[in-house]
Amino acid sequence: MDQGSHNGNGAGRFSGEQEMVFPELPERMVCYPDPRLREACAPIEDFDDSVAALAERMLQIMKTGDGVGLAGPQVGVCRRIFVCNPTGRPEDDRVYINPELLDLVGTVEAEEGCLSLPEIRAVIHRARKGRIRAVDVNGEPFEHDGQDLIARIWQHENDHLGGRLIIDRMDATDRIANKKQLAYLEAQFKG
Ligand code: ZN
Repeated sequence: MDQGSHNGNGAGRFSGEQEMVFPELPERMVCYPDPRLREACAPIEDFDDSVAALAERMLQIMKTGDGVGLAGPQVGVCRRIFVCNPTGRPEDDRVYINPELLDLVGTVEAEEGCLSLPEIRAVIHRARKGRIRAVDVNGEPFEHDGQDLIARIWQHENDHLGGRLIIDRMDATDRIANKKQLAYLEAQFKG
């Protein structure tokens, strides 16, 4: 759902004290098999300016990578936040913080990619539609209903927040088709 790669500079912010709210974002996308992609992310609880700055930066990184979605762990931020834009139009930028997926119904399969899994493609079964409950960058709650592509993006990105990747969901055929590339990514990884 997010696919490609990117380069970018960090946009770390500090809270009022000395504690850093979010780490400096990495120069490169966090890619498989980086263990940071496998952690369950903590909710965001403080909604200061750094949250909006993080969301803005994530949208930029997503677009640079030609992605339609990007989750916190992919930029080294293990917090429950993801951004998406299913159309590429600026007015369709969306930010979901502390999301919950509800009322998922139907099953459809479609091919997905992931910015953290370069060159990997896999057919993934997802619910066709559902509802998302989340808060915005100011901590204000909202709910949206969605179907097809947007619902698929929600499910893909929400998986990231629980440390789950498309390679966990792909079938045996795709596992074989992607075996070489996964081995390559593992060999490239320098911990
Ligand atoms: Zn992904």
